[in-house]
Amino acid sequence: MDLLQQANVDSARGNVHRPADAVIRHIYLHIPFCARICPYCAFYKTLPDRDQSDRFCDALLRELEMHAAQFRIEPETIFFGGGTPTALSTAQLERLLRDFHEIVALSAVAEWTIEANAGSVSPRKAAALRAAGVTRISLGVQSWNDRLLKILGREHTAAKAEASYHIIRAAGFPSINIDLMFGLPGQTVADWQLTLDKTIALRPDHISAYCLTYEEDTEFFRRQATGEYQSDESADAEFFTTALTMLEAAGYIHYETSNYALPGHESIHNRAYWRGADYLGLGPSAFSTVALERWQNVADYRAYANRVLAGESPVADREQLTTAMKQRERVALSLRTNEGVPAEWLAHSGEARREFIDLGLLEQRSARYVLTPRGKLLADSVAAGLM
Ligand code: SF4
Repeated sequence: MDLLQQANVDSARGNVHRPADAVIRHIYLHIPFCARICPYCAFYKTLPDRDQSDRFCDALLRELEMHAAQFRIEPETIFFGGGTPTALSTAQLERLLRDFHEIVALSAVAEWTIEANAGSVSPRKAAALRAAGVTRISLGVQSWNDRLLKILGREHTAAKAEASYHIIRAAGFPSINIDLMFGLPGQTVADWQLTLDKTIALRPDHISAYCLTYEEDTEFFRRQATGEYQSDESADAEFFTTALTMLEAAGYIHYETSNYALPGHESIHNRAYWRGADYLGLGPSAFSTVALERWQNVADYRAYANRVLAGESPVADREQLTTAMKQRERVALSLRTNEGVPAEWLAHSGEARREFIDLGLLEQRSARYVLTPRGKLLADSVAAGLM
């Protein structure tokens, strides 16, 4: 049975409920390998397995073929995340990029992002990725403070991350993102200001600044449960405001709660998520959403490869969304952006809306509602209150 027949059988069994004319314009690919496991990380990740990684790449390409038999895929954005995609060898990454071209037409791709390890970007790997069409690198620096990097269990030092940044810049990528984190155990506002100063001096095109969250099933969560680590909402608010003030003063546009960009460097891929666009997620644990269906692949790279290479579906969970659920998600995600939400989306939430406006958390700008700087600190609570 070929892949198209398999897809048709799946449809006939009622396993899928997707409009035949769905056009997929955004692809995410999850590569779960990491040289070291960070103690705060809740993503599906695992140590590199050199014996299995070629087979794993085979499976990713096979899964893309399976989707291409079902959907029209005309990607505008591709995002290789993880894990650490650059944990794959240069040859493996080159092969993935090359074979993508053979499975789907990539002429409309405007942004191709790869997350890179801040500790081990080689000039050879950077040049190969650029030559193969990658346009954007996201570098997981997190902090320029070696003491905090140690607490985070990161593999790299600040010096190594800086060397990686310069290698990527020299390779000529049109856009570079630096990921940073605040609210870390033992981090002071002065530490955070130094990290922001250093980042601004390097002038990346995009900066993501995330607040540490204590996720279940992580070592940090267990340490928080014993009282060793404590989250502090008022300190987090100060870190957030410090970032907002310093980055805006340096010319970065705060275009989403955790994201800042120089003009023209906003992430097209992430914007598509926030606007509720359909996307396909390939690889173990990856989510996909097409129309009103959401599904997640099995979060185990061996089981994933076994299933896909046997011609079976790697899907572990499916969820049928309703229009109302999807709309609620769109409101919550759009509110986090500087575009805000169209006024008609909040037509039903009159009293709560007026209350947030009176509290100075929300404001109307022509036909849209956007969060005020104070509202940005409470984006998730405002979104919940409006719905
Ligand atoms: S490198 Fe990233 S994905 Fe890997 S363990 Fe650390 S935080 Fe998680």
